[in-house]
Amino acid sequence: MHANAAHPTELWHRLDDGRVQCDVCPRACALKEGQRGLCFVRGCEDGAVVLHSYGRSSGFCIDPVEKKPLNHFLPGTPVLSFGTAGCNLTCRFCQNWDMSKSREMDSLAADASPKGIAHAAASHGCRSVAYTYNDPVIFLEYACDTAEACRALGIRNVAVTAGYVSPGAREEFFACMDAANIDLKAFTDDFYKKLCSASLAPVLETIEYVHHETDVWLELTTLIIPGHNDSDAEIARMAAWVVEHLGPDVPMHFSAFHPDYRMRDLPPTPPATLIRARRVAMDQGVRYAYTGNLHDGAGGSTYCHACGELLIERDWYRLGRWGLTADGRCGHCGAPCAGVFEAEPGHWGARRLPLAPSALAEVA
Ligand code: SF4
Repeated sequence: MHANAAHPTELWHRLDDGRVQCDVCPRACALKEGQRGLCFVRGCEDGAVVLHSYGRSSGFCIDPVEKKPLNHFLPGTPVLSFGTAGCNLTCRFCQNWDMSKSREMDSLAADASPKGIAHAAASHGCRSVAYTYNDPVIFLEYACDTAEACRALGIRNVAVTAGYVSPGAREEFFACMDAANIDLKAFTDDFYKKLCSASLAPVLETIEYVHHETDVWLELTTLIIPGHNDSDAEIARMAAWVVEHLGPDVPMHFSAFHPDYRMRDLPPTPPATLIRARRVAMDQGVRYAYTGNLHDGAGGSTYCHACGELLIERDWYRLGRWGLTADGRCGHCGAPCAGVFEAEPGHWGARRLPLAPSALAEVA
């Protein structure tokens, strides 16, 4: 495997004018020989769409699963995270732009095969691997081969994605996953159009698809940006849609923006805004709403929706009191807590452990 190696793909078709059209996301890039799509990692070579980032990673790190963020999926356990280069959205506020906007495939870490990643995760005691940092739908073939290698070792798979994906690719991609955190970046098409050159409808379709038609555990995240998506009215409409279309059990995370990339003229999100967003969502009937990127014991912890008892105490990514029974119920009143839980929480804590490329050595 070498930099910019072209991996064959299947989600494309030939157009009458001789170009090929990528069918992975709603951008539907129509490509001439040698052209790359907007994501830059898929392109046309020898009359077919190929993936240029297969086996190339932008780095590996072990984190608590809460950092993805997933608060109801194997709490306290370590997850091996990785991404590649490129992205199919153009968010002006991107918080990972060094990777997502990278066109420097050569600067990516050493080659990392699917089996190598799975074995590295297993040997470090990770319970899952997360496809994150840039949007994994654009490296679907690499993500799914890695997910298959992980499943063979009993390791689960987590997608962190904006959900901007076409129906065929959506089905293929989420069949490989066990949990997903999908960005619901805002609740207006205007926001998606102006700030991400995308649209809201395909994202909502993906969210409904994942929740209703797969077994993937789903949580949602909104990065709250001052002046753009932080009004009570918009957050209330978004939360009401979640409750109406998905039910009250899908957790919502509201996280803090910091000035970055092409949006350096705005202030960071005030903590009070996140605390207010959480309250607005809960007033709409969302049972589990969280603040993120913030020291907020109440906003980071899980409470029983029936009796209000503290079920999982969190401060930043560190777990405290554990009030769930072995079968995921409230230890006080017995009401079930939605999620994927085991009898005991993990003990990874808030550690962040970058992995050296040698840890990803090819495994036969
Ligand atoms: S995945 Fe990339 S090449 Fe394919 S349609 Fe989307 S942006 Fe275009």
